[in-house]
Amino acid sequence: MDERGTPLGSGQRVLVAGGAGFIGSHLCDALVAAGHAVLCVDNFHTGAKRNIERLLDHDAFELQNHDIVHPLYLETERIYNLACPASPVHYQSNPVRTIKTNVIGTINLLGLARRVKARILQASTSEVYGDPESHPQKESYWGRVNPIGPRACYDEGKRCAESLCVEYHRQNAVDIRIARIFNTYGPRMHPGDGRVVSNFIVGALRGEALTVYGDGTQSRSFCYVDDMVKGLVALMDYEAGFAGPVNLGNPEEISIGELAVLIIELAGSRSSLEYRPLPEDDPIRRRPDIARAEGILGWKPSMMLEEGLKKTIDYFDELLSNIS
Ligand code: NAD
Ligand code: UDP
Repeated sequence: MDERGTPLGSGQRVLVAGGAGFIGSHLCDALVAAGHAVLCVDNFHTGAKRNIERLLDHDAFELQNHDIVHPLYLETERIYNLACPASPVHYQSNPVRTIKTNVIGTINLLGLARRVKARILQASTSEVYGDPESHPQKESYWGRVNPIGPRACYDEGKRCAESLCVEYHRQNAVDIRIARIFNTYGPRMHPGDGRVVSNFIVGALRGEALTVYGDGTQSRSFCYVDDMVKGLVALMDYEAGFAGPVNLGNPEEISIGELAVLIIELAGSRSSLEYRPLPEDDPIRRRPDIARAEGILGWKPSMMLEEGLKKTIDYFDELLSNIS
């Protein structure tokens, strides 16, 4: 890198906000491996140093402990904005902070993109569709979100972040990309973050009852993190300009009850199921329509759920044996 941090090779200088989190850390790995100089910005709200430990000694990697609610002044060519807690437990623990991260934080990164003429990719979410009446969800669907429910800080925060991106694009010609990420899982999910895959795997490995919310018939579609990272990079590298938000996810849909049974089986566990009330506004069905991503990016996920779960179980098995 030269004194401004610009990579000496053909790579670009890339800022990854939220780079110490689950998806962000895999993205940093991929970008460094591709020859880019990566600046990871994170406030460690839900991220962890261990996620990026291997990169810390790498010449092409830099870490800055920073909250995106405060402006950043630096040079960069590309910005991925992944900074935001993704698990309902964490984003609901301080809802006002979640809104500030999504609104003020995104304004700060868009302002930076405008100043330095960087391309910016916003990590949006399937939560913009809320509890959908339309299935599978296409990008043209406007969603059904409760603006005053417990998930609103995240759902409406992310919807506002999309609006901000589009307005910076229209008003200031900022080069934007919007990825609507559907449920993603894999190694480096936080064991205590409350999301269903990590909860079930940790429960199964410890031989504890798996907590199924509701009757377990609600569905999700789970995408392995390596596939997601490839989708994010492909969208960022899409040269034809902003083509609207793009769903990224795996269309293989499964009910939460079936997922619990599958994880118990794959972990060789004897855990039982324990039913708890369904949280308010919990979406009943979710599956991405990925025709747009397939069409414009030539991207589709390749990891089958069973295979990805086995890799994730192996990761948690090792993590838990190191903790205990
Ligand atoms: P994560 O919680 O593991 O990572 C988020 C990272 O952002 C963490 O490292 C956290 O410390 C950091 N962060 C949070 N607030 C910040 C702030 N104000 N300033 C700087 N850093 C901050 O979550 P993840 O699963 O890796 O999700 C990454 C992104 O993808 C999020 O924006 C999330 O909304 C989006 N997303 C994830 C999923 C999923 O299933 N994992 C689904 C849809 C959307
Ligand atoms: N869920 C569950 N048990 C858990 C955690 C989650 O049954 O221990 C359910 C949750 O109610 C939801 C689904 O699993 O229906 C996915 O939850 P998660 O928090 O992983 O993601 P999101 O609801 O944001 O899609």
